[in-house]
Amino acid sequence: MNLNKYWNEVGENKTVGLKQLCCGCDTCSQVCPKAAISVEKDSMGFYYPIIDEDKCVHCGICVRRCQCLSNKFFIKTKRQPEAYAVVNRDLKSLKDSSSGGAAFVLAMYILEQQGVVFGAVYNETMDIVHQKIESREELWRIQGSKYAQSRIHNSYQQVEEYLKNGKKVLFTGTPCQIGGLYFFLGKDYPELYTMDIICYGAASPGIFKDYIEWKENKTKGKIKHINFRNKLDGWGNSITEITYYNKKILLRYSEQDEWYQTFISHVATREACHYCKYTNLQRLSDITVGDFWGIEKFRPEMECGRGISKVLVNTDKGKRLFESISNGIKKEKMEFESIVRPNLVQPPPRSECREKFLEDYCRLGFYPAFKNNVEKKIPFIRQMKRYLKIIIRSKVASEKW
Ligand SMILES: Cc1cc2nc3c(=O)[nH]c(=O)nc-3n(C[C@H](O)[C@H](O)[C@H](O)COP(=O)(O)OP(=O)(O)OC[C@H]3O[C@@H](n4cnc5c(N)ncnc54)[C@H](O)[C@@H]3O)c2cc1C
Ligand code: SF4
Ligand code: SF4
Ligand code: SF4
Repeated sequence: MNLNKYWNEVGENKTVGLKQLCCGCDTCSQVCPKAAISVEKDSMGFYYPIIDEDKCVHCGICVRRCQCLSNKFFIKTKRQPEAYAVVNRDLKSLKDSSSGGAAFVLAMYILEQQGVVFGAVYNETMDIVHQKIESREELWRIQGSKYAQSRIHNSYQQVEEYLKNGKKVLFTGTPCQIGGLYFFLGKDYPELYTMDIICYGAASPGIFKDYIEWKENKTKGKIKHINFRNKLDGWGNSITEITYYNKKILLRYSEQDEWYQTFISHVATREACHYCKYTNLQRLSDITVGDFWGIEKFRPEMECGRGISKVLVNTDKGKRLFESISNGIKKEKMEFESIVRPNLVQPPPRSECREKFLEDYCRLGFYPAFKNNVEKKIPFIRQMKRYLKIIIRSKVASEKW
């Protein structure tokens, strides 16, 4: 049996099919011994596996290694995670991280141990892809939340190669990307560390690319990088910072940015995310990181306006790793109740506008679909105030940092 046969049978006999289940982890294409599986974009910009029946020998490996078809979990421990609030002591790297910079400090430690780190970066064409990072100079590339699904490509194969050569590896990503890695490897390795983010859904990478193209046309420049969580006006008032190849920089409050609005409204979220089996407290990675919104209610003295990470230490291995970075961070053990928010324990909500947005996108393209279904009108006065505030903040922010 191969995936095509499986999906056809499941689709006919039950009500679920490929789109409800497949999280797009790319495991199947990397385990197929005949290279019969390619991963291709559908009309809504999501990637799904396609099998070349002429090459397939029906060995069934792709079905057995698919995390979404399996009832198995790679849960390494059943105990409740330990919870911490964490802030990176190094202001320069804290500034470029989305929350408290825990991910950066963990990655730095692995690099110092001559290890290699995998995470999501923008490549030169602004596609979001998983890539290996081997030096401190490159580490900034995985910093910051990229708000669309990153492509794994052959990262799992690279991870296996490094592990077989005895190298330490830190693999970071969404919970299903970590799940995909464990299903690909088939076991845990002593030198493998995994860190997932608290994930509330992966947006369509194809629609994100169309947003980039639309923005480039509108602003007449080639985009090199986007930070949706610039902290010029503090952590809670995210600014979207777009950097162009010609060195121009565009700053706008994220609530005004067309992609940020699209991402948070869940109209472009992958179908399988709404059925996600990983949004719960039985984490499968060694460490989980997220934003510690609401910290002021529990530890007002920790709130510094520069970002705070929520860190869950899930396994013994995660605990050893977390203890190794203690010098570089300010940390506070937290009561369990303080960390539980909907995005940790339930799949992302389905937007009522999702189908209409996607239909409009297929017919008309990104911007009309955004205007018809997502755009939040911000009053002119508020826009002007926001504009002036950004100018003032850019002049004085360096004092704060
Ligand atoms: C799409 C997305 C949705 C998120 N939703 C929530 C949420 O609802 N609640 C919450 O508490 N936290 C959420 N987070 C996590 C949070 O925004 C921070 O990424 C996290 O707190 C780590 O921040 P940091 O300051 O430690 O490090 P940062 O430097 O900001 O973190 C970067 C890390 O995130 C990974 N990463 C970035 N973009 C992606 C991507 N597209 N796919 C996979 N991995 C990626 C990188 O590989 C790197 O390891 C989300 C992150 C992403 C990418
Ligand atoms: S969930 Fe992953 S392994 Fe399963 S079909 Fe989708 S891409 Fe392939
Ligand atoms: S050859 Fe095996 S792994 Fe590859 S597509 Fe066919 S059944 Fe799946
Ligand atoms: S919500 Fe679940 S399925 Fe979707 S990207 Fe996150 S972990 Fe994967």
